[in-house]
Amino acid sequence: MRAGIYARISHDPFETTLGVQRQIEDCTKEAKRRNWEIVEIYQDNDVSATRSKVRPEYQRMLSDVAQGHINAMVVWDIDRLTRTPRELEDIIDLADKMNLSMANVGGEIDLSTPQGKLTARIKGNVARHEAEQMSRRLQRAFQQRALSGKPHSYAPYGFERITREDGTKWDIANREQADVLNEAAERYASGESLRSICQDFMRRGIPAAKTDKWATTSLRQMFLRPVNIGMRQHKGVIVGKANADPIMSEDLYNQVCARLTDPERIKHAYGRTPRQLLSAIAQCGLCGGKMRYSKATEYRGKKVPAQYDCKECFKVRRKSEPIDQIVTGAVLGRLKDPKLLVALAKDTSGELPRLRERLDGLKARLDIAADQFADGTITGEQLKRINSKLIPDMEDTKKRIGHLQGSNPIIGLIGANAAERWENAPLEIRRQVIQELMTVMIMPAGAGGKFNPELIKIEWKA
Ligand SMILES: [Zn+2]
Repeated sequence: MRAGIYARISHDPFETTLGVQRQIEDCTKEAKRRNWEIVEIYQDNDVSATRSKVRPEYQRMLSDVAQGHINAMVVWDIDRLTRTPRELEDIIDLADKMNLSMANVGGEIDLSTPQGKLTARIKGNVARHEAEQMSRRLQRAFQQRALSGKPHSYAPYGFERITREDGTKWDIANREQADVLNEAAERYASGESLRSICQDFMRRGIPAAKTDKWATTSLRQMFLRPVNIGMRQHKGVIVGKANADPIMSEDLYNQVCARLTDPERIKHAYGRTPRQLLSAIAQCGLCGGKMRYSKATEYRGKKVPAQYDCKECFKVRRKSEPIDQIVTGAVLGRLKDPKLLVALAKDTSGELPRLRERLDGLKARLDIAADQFADGTITGEQLKRINSKLIPDMEDTKKRIGHLQGSNPIIGLIGANAAERWENAPLEIRRQVIQELMTVMIMPAGAGGKFNPELIKIEWKA
């Protein structure tokens, strides 16, 4: 069987469903269990702001089925694959015509029998109904809280919480912190980097929110909070006034947000001085020393191209450009190979599955509470109390999961469009991926001027 895996991140404001990475991992295992060969991985993202109706990877998958490139599909569940009964009918038609085998994780969707079709239809409809119900309930509960402008359980940095005469909680400026935040904002708006501002604050011993350490990511988040101008947001949209006095001018707030969300800037946010792809990664084939990059120059009137030199034995030097090309080609070949994902999936430390289980557990508890609230078993006050306990825990768990996943940038690059993702990945990430996947050994050039690719030795790491 030549199988494709299809995974989809769905629009899900509370992230109650599975991350795409986990879908792929589970589907990979399922395919292995069935001895199906994975030849393609398709992943769509339905989360984008516009939530476009088009799913390019879904379309690609359909055309691969139609052309006979794949004859089996693995999905986490049928609701990952089709969003509407109409889409399911398309799949059923295609399965009939092309003899397509389908599997979901831990089950079989047999589209070749009337009973199997019926089951798929029912499952699709139930999933859709549940999703609609759940999101309606939860959204109502959260929206209410957001719209009413009620603050979270603690005052954000820059504020302190007071209780007003009528009993409502209200955030007013913490003068000292608000001044720090405004200073940072003004410096950032006039061109200074987040990093240099953080470093300066640490040098001056200014305490950060709940810690001594100023981090660029949290400073960035602080800048983007609408509460700075006394507003409150819900799902990324400003929905009304917060129970808070503004601590920053709208003008400054807008300037800072504009600079932070400038797409050009985001691209360069990694902002390290660009180095060469392989400098200090490639090894000298003679002495094993680290090769360094020297840029193109002129020597006694002759052009010397950019090259990698051994700075230890000084005996090996090779033109850098073809080496970069060979290594890039090799990495891309490997990234496009779905087997790599299988290898990586096996390799998780055990911490990740535990955290995911915990996350699922927390989500289930939130769901139950929302159900109980919707049924009238518990009051809004009780729901709020439960949420205020569970949500920070959930956020923390998510952060740790993100951190663990983030520590392996390869996962984000694997797939059919690896080349494009590689192209867009910052140099730092590319270097990290190369180091994780392979060792590169540069042998001395042989006789004759022609570049011999065999003198670049690539060894894959297990
Ligand atoms: Zn050497």
